[in-house]
Amino acid sequence: SDSPDQLRKAIRDVPDFPKPGILFKDITPVLADPKLMQAAIDGMIAPFAGQQIDKVVGIDARGFIFGAMIAQKLGAGFIPVRKKGKLPWKTHGVDYSLEYGTNSVEIHQDALAPGDRVLLADDLLATGGTAGAALKLILDSGATLLGSTFFIELGFLEGRGKLPGGGPVHSLISF
Ligand code: 5GP
Repeated sequence: SDSPDQLRKAIRDVPDFPKPGILFKDITPVLADPKLMQAAIDGMIAPFAGQQIDKVVGIDARGFIFGAMIAQKLGAGFIPVRKKGKLPWKTHGVDYSLEYGTNSVEIHQDALAPGDRVLLADDLLATGGTAGAALKLILDSGATLLGSTFFIELGFLEGRGKLPGGGPVHSLISF
């Protein structure tokens, strides 16, 4: 199939967003095309075929889109990990460091339970700080993390090194 190539071509490079010197990978053209979106979701779940998955954890904000579609396709529940202060109920939080400063993400305290079989999903793996924080929240809940799946991986940033003990790390498109 040529869909990985079509997907790659549909990703738009935006220079100097959100800051000078950053080349942002814009995935909105993929979202806008139903065939490409279907190919993206199918490709993201393929390595986990045949495994029982109870919950998909998606990361604020584009991870909600991919994660919710994956959850629907797998017949699993969807669990949001959000930036601090956005979730309405009681939360567990974790801080992680950025190039300058820190960020925090949170999960609802009752979102996951020991024994839940979980897949982590986001649109893009860069330095791994964000996904690493989500991984910690999942593991701290006692749930079983089966693995992580990303639409895009910026391989040169070696973010997958920040995901130890969370099962296989899959990405559909690598730059
Ligand atoms: P990391 O924590 O791995 O450095 O950054 C990954 C997070 O930032 C993901 O949640 C992702 O949505 C967002 N992100 C960072 N760079 C990009 C980019 O170039 N394109 C998109 N779509 N998201 C990005």
